[in-house]
Amino acid sequence: MKRTLTVCPYCGAGCMFYLVSDKGRLVGVEPSTTHPVSRGGLCVKGWNAYAFVHHPDRLTTPLLRRDGVLKPASWDEALNLVVQKLRAVQKKHGADAVMFASSAKATNEENYLLMKLARAVFGTNNIDHCARLCHSSTVTGLAETFGSGAMTNSISCIDQADVILVIGSNTTEQHPLIGSRILNAVRNGTHLIVADNRRIRLARHADLHLRHKNGSDVALLNGIMHVIIAEELENRDFITARTENFAALAKTVAGWTPERTAAATGLETGEIVTAARLFAAAERGMIVYSMGITQHSHGVDNVRCIAALAMLTGNVGRPGTGVNPLRGQNNVQGGCDMGALPDLYSGYQKVSDPLMREKFAHAWGVAQLSATPGLPLTRAMDAASAGQLQAMFIMGENPALSDPDLGHARRVLENLELLVVQDIFMTETAALADIVLPAACYAEKEGTFTSTERRIQRLSKAVEPPGVARADWEIICAIAERAGYQGMRYADPAAIMDEIAALTPIYGGIAYGRLDPHGLQWPCPDRSHPGTPLLHTERFTRGTGRFSTAFHHLPAELPDAQYPLVLTTGRTYFHWHTGSMTRRTHLLDREEPSSFIELHPDDAARLGVRNRDLLLVSSRRGKVRTEARVTDMVIPGVVFMPFHFAEGAANTLTNNVLDPESSIPEFKVCAVQVEKLP
Ligand code: SF4
Repeated sequence: MKRTLTVCPYCGAGCMFYLVSDKGRLVGVEPSTTHPVSRGGLCVKGWNAYAFVHHPDRLTTPLLRRDGVLKPASWDEALNLVVQKLRAVQKKHGADAVMFASSAKATNEENYLLMKLARAVFGTNNIDHCARLCHSSTVTGLAETFGSGAMTNSISCIDQADVILVIGSNTTEQHPLIGSRILNAVRNGTHLIVADNRRIRLARHADLHLRHKNGSDVALLNGIMHVIIAEELENRDFITARTENFAALAKTVAGWTPERTAAATGLETGEIVTAARLFAAAERGMIVYSMGITQHSHGVDNVRCIAALAMLTGNVGRPGTGVNPLRGQNNVQGGCDMGALPDLYSGYQKVSDPLMREKFAHAWGVAQLSATPGLPLTRAMDAASAGQLQAMFIMGENPALSDPDLGHARRVLENLELLVVQDIFMTETAALADIVLPAACYAEKEGTFTSTERRIQRLSKAVEPPGVARADWEIICAIAERAGYQGMRYADPAAIMDEIAALTPIYGGIAYGRLDPHGLQWPCPDRSHPGTPLLHTERFTRGTGRFSTAFHHLPAELPDAQYPLVLTTGRTYFHWHTGSMTRRTHLLDREEPSSFIELHPDDAARLGVRNRDLLLVSSRRGKVRTEARVTDMVIPGVVFMPFHFAEGAANTLTNNVLDPESSIPEFKVCAVQVEKLP
């Protein structure tokens, strides 16, 4: 038996464990007892993270579509064709006719290389990844208010908080080790406020559970801040010393009396006042949030309000406090850090800045780099249907199941002149591709992931990839080479990290030799720096913290006579994203084998629906069949569906309306109708 220390491939908590292998095959997982997050524990996904690796569905050879059918081909054939066809599309339609989609499941080194390939080799800033679908509102909102779009504190800070406000995060299911840490803190006396209208597990242990209407977060947070200012509970010293624009905030929230807030949110006035007093009274107040905040047509406004609440109460820059967006996928933080974004190079250095363009062009050995910001991923589908985009190169993502309004997304993918997909399984997106490139999974390669607490950690190769599958970084380098670019010759991922460190100030001190055993937290500007567990201690990244105000807007689509229910979507404990790995893990799939919809007993009674009845759920965009789960987890008038399942795909129904600033879709609110099927 061999034990290989590596990083969990699922959520952003970043647990580390040992993959146990025997004669080249994985046989199990053992948690790391010394890791600061795992601490000898794992959730059910982590314990089973070895099981999909040897699944017979793994892609083992490149595939080319011939006569409408994907057929095996050699690497030479496939790679030459990728380059030839991408060049042909660009020659015909221009450099920006191609879009590159990177992956929050790939390593930092691979995200960096794909953005380098897009920019230095193919001359376009059309590079983005699935952070667009989960935390782009955070990146925009926190960059504006604090100067940095990352979690301000460390996960271990949960232990020191006096009160924790969890808003829009089903933490025990999405980030289970963080959820259990919050529950432990509550057991040790920390107060807990949960703002989420589902009766999630954390809510059962909360001092206060606020079941506010979907899409009313700005009203709720403005109302809480109104009470804090009206009762003079704000932290005047912090506001004076560390912030700007307080007068504008005070003016905006002045009108948000408890009565007006109650009307907008559906809460009692007493609940709003109690939440405000409880949070403001704490010496150390922490805010934890996730996609219940970000995935709205006004997601950036929600984030602005969260940042304002933290500054208003002086809860930034100290242990046990902070604004803590929990990143969904294992390396979504790293994907952003590496510049897999249409307007930023690695380390959030702006494409629009001529000095940055010059710096990267010089380092990459190219004459110049495009100054035109690229397309956000969520606008790519519309651009393609408008004829502005003809080819997509998708690494490790599955938009044919994860995008909103799936019918539209799939039609676009089918009609592209060229679709290249690089993945470990034949996903719903790969099945539509012209060229499929088989990739190694996390257990079969070296690299680094960056967890939600900005911790850069090494993954290590435990077993060989199946067939002729290769690591994503090797495939990207081979494409660059065939495209005539010689600036992507690396001995190993450690050499790629050396280049990243040289060009990316927040990763300046990162080197593989420094990352064992449990990584370093950025910013880590030089080789002697110990890493930064806590951001904004003396000053904000932007200097002063800025109070940005936000006005309450209703969701883009509200229930009406035809579609009388609000649909909200999310994940379950046993599955991950589009299920390509967890649905190929027997123990996880056995626990949650199929799509379902939660509806309140009052709505079920009105519709004559009983538990496990087969239902047809319709929105203005499509229809899906799924099974009823009658439960008071949801409030009357609201239904919930997980989005993991290709059969009964929730995103067939969701609304492709975008936040105007972050381009994140409004996954959390749309209007649906539910009918019982015979
Ligand atoms: Fe993996 Fe997240 Fe579970 Fe930890 S909490 S084992 S990182 S899925």
